[in-house]
Amino acid sequence: MPIAAYALHARGLLRERADRAHRMLACCTLCPRRCRVDRLAGETGRCRTGALARIASYGPHFGEEAPLVGVGGSGTVFLAGCNLCCCFCQNYDISQGSDSGQEVDARGFASVMLELQAMGCHNINLVTPSHVVPQILAALIPALDAGLDIPVVFNCSGYESAETLALLAGAVDIYMPDVKFWRPETANRYAEAPDYPERVREALAIMHRQVGDLDIGPDGIARAGLLVRHLLMPGLLAETEAILGFIATTLSPATYVNLMAQYHPCGRAGQHEELRRTVTGEAYRRALDTARTLGLTRLDRPDLARLLRRLGL
Ligand code: SF4
Ligand code: SF4
Repeated sequence: MPIAAYALHARGLLRERADRAHRMLACCTLCPRRCRVDRLAGETGRCRTGALARIASYGPHFGEEAPLVGVGGSGTVFLAGCNLCCCFCQNYDISQGSDSGQEVDARGFASVMLELQAMGCHNINLVTPSHVVPQILAALIPALDAGLDIPVVFNCSGYESAETLALLAGAVDIYMPDVKFWRPETANRYAEAPDYPERVREALAIMHRQVGDLDIGPDGIARAGLLVRHLLMPGLLAETEAILGFIATTLSPATYVNLMAQYHPCGRAGQHEELRRTVTGEAYRRALDTARTLGLTRLDRPDLARLLRRLGL
């Protein structure tokens, strides 16, 4: 299946984008943190990542959304480091631990993509990619030259800068942001990012303009488009409802949405009394009702029966 980046590469624009992105590393403003560190000289900012991307693990993943998994699985690449740094991160050691993962250059990164394709994966699912956009663009060049032809998924937190998203236009097939917080106070409390709500709303609009609603082929596999995730948090149902309202009215009621209820305390969540519990089944049911009332009908249902049992419904 052809992927978007081919057209960009054929016009010589992928190399140009990769070079522009690479230059940004010298005074890094890739994401809204705008740390202005020289990553090319080995300095690191909030994402704790220098000039090279680090891959913590990779392989076919069967726990992602149904349109990504199919029979061959989603070719997941877990990238070490993160620009958002949520206190409750389920992959805390990878996102915020020091020196986790194996450094890869563009060719090494491309080899991983090609290996996942050879394993039969339906896509390359880049998990936590926002701080390594230059490295991703650079890796796509040798990967495409060697025959990569499955969609590229940008599986991110949504804490993105408009300038960096512009570099990704036409290089990414599927955007999969996990929209986390609605209120600046919440984003500040749990991720020290009070501008997150503003940035993620802007990012969602840009992503939607670039790729549109999720397009799923006759084989049930996603080809391109926007897939929005949202993890319900304990006590934050009102924020969930506001986020769903934004998606339905400002983006599109045809947005494919995965409402996730698997929150459990991880990382530094224990520092906040209110985060030391899971979400209730009642909150999840109300969130689903809200989504339906808003006209959001494309809701991911990976294993709804099991989930409702776990939540005691
Ligand atoms: S990508 Fe990393 S170093 Fe660059 S601005 Fe974001 S957090 Fe800071
Ligand atoms: S939950 Fe996602 S965005 Fe938050 S720290 Fe973990 S990897 Fe980063």
